[in-house]
Amino acid sequence: MSPFIYDLIGLLAGVCFILSLKGLSHPRTARRGNLLGATGAAIATVLVFFRSENEGKNLIWIIGAIIVGVIIGVPAARKVQMTAMPQLVALFNGVGGGAAALVAIVEYMKLGSSASIAVVIATVFTVVVGCVSFSGSIITFLKLQELMTTAPVVYPGGRAVIAGTLVGVIGVSGWVIAEMGTTPLIILAALSLLFGVLFVLPVGGADVPIVISLLNAFTGLTVAASGYVLDATLLIIAGTLVGASGTILTRLMAEAMGRSLFGTLFGAFTAKPQSASGAAETRPVKSGTPDDVAILLNYARRVVIVPGFGLAVAQAQHTVRELADLLAAKGIDVAYGIHPVAGRMPGHMNVLLAEANVPYEQLSEMDEVNPTFPQTDVALIIGANDVVNPAAKTTPGCPIYGMPILDVSQAGNVIFLKRSMRPGFAGIENELLYDPKTTLLFGDAKASLTKVVSALKVL
Ligand code: NDP
Repeated sequence: MSPFIYDLIGLLAGVCFILSLKGLSHPRTARRGNLLGATGAAIATVLVFFRSENEGKNLIWIIGAIIVGVIIGVPAARKVQMTAMPQLVALFNGVGGGAAALVAIVEYMKLGSSASIAVVIATVFTVVVGCVSFSGSIITFLKLQELMTTAPVVYPGGRAVIAGTLVGVIGVSGWVIAEMGTTPLIILAALSLLFGVLFVLPVGGADVPIVISLLNAFTGLTVAASGYVLDATLLIIAGTLVGASGTILTRLMAEAMGRSLFGTLFGAFTAKPQSASGAAETRPVKSGTPDDVAILLNYARRVVIVPGFGLAVAQAQHTVRELADLLAAKGIDVAYGIHPVAGRMPGHMNVLLAEANVPYEQLSEMDEVNPTFPQTDVALIIGANDVVNPAAKTTPGCPIYGMPILDVSQAGNVIFLKRSMRPGFAGIENELLYDPKTTLLFGDAKASLTKVVSALKVL
């Protein structure tokens, strides 16, 4: 293929990536954006086979790797439960960073001492950031899958250990640049892997979303740097787009959670210890029946539905829509209050409710809905916990302190639909469960909602 045609098709793929991001910025166009991004990626993958210096080289290996990737990736992505999507994304993100680091190492070994200083610096960057992204993403995966504690992992001298490892990474980077040897590069990769683990361990459950998007930005930057090493413009374009959008998302998430990035990553080392969430709690709570809940809703003028992770677990999005339609038909004003980190991935609730065709106009963001709670008769909390936990305002030093929450306690009545008294992802007690105006309807959210809908129909 002539270099001109090659570059032209590459440009087309780059345009697909840019339009994809544009599409992904709004729920209505997100599906189209996703398809455009996938089309760009497919074009870019096929195009590599036509690069003049690549033609025919290592074909068996490349096709073999693609087949293995398809065999593992396609069923994993098709079968994954919606609730487990964030873990899968974390894993794929980590694999991307790790792959870029491996490619840079191999390329470096191939070039040896003929590598220019600029390529060596780009290689060092790719290896460090790619390895941090890989091991950090694995820890994020373990936290999200709850294969390890979601609480911050802290230990005496933790900050010094992390700072020491970072100094080691910087020192060995200098060694690689000065000596251009493979041994220091391998040591650098090992230290960077260790750093990735150490810097994600102290992050508490509630702050995981910020770290996911930070690692995503890291992977983008790694890919862009590996594009420089490999002299591949498309990798630079795609990596820069991911790096830039990931950085913006990280900033937005941190702002939404009322956090600084430094506080998110290292705040746990200075936080005061919390009372154990698992401690036996003897205070009484007010539990109700589906009929009680239906009566409260039936006589309300305004109801705000607050969905959370439990709605996704129960797959109750269609039933909640049915309930909202029923209430609206009775002349009740219904809105959904959406917290930016409700669920387990950015936009989780929007995606879930869009699946049930809930009109986008009914979804109110936190800043919009909070001032309306004093005029709200019932706040109906379905499988949410951390995003309405007043400890974020009242308990300095707790893992979610400072995170803006949905002010449901300002509503006339608060109803929680959950299965037990277990806490949310951040692992902290929710005082609102014991508030006299709170009614708890225990059970799976879908089953409970179905019963409430039946009870409402006969009122
Ligand atoms: P939480 O994890 O705080 O609470 C979920 C609640 O749902 C629990 O109280 C649980 O209680 C209940 N629940 C679970 N399954 C069911 C079910 N089948 N039926 C009814 N209830 C159920 O969720 P939130 O959405 O309030 O908060 C999200 C948390 O996740 C935040 O801490 C956030 O920082 C974190 N996070 C968010 C990410 C994002 O990008 N959005 C990414 C990673 C983490 P019970 O077990 O008693 O039923």
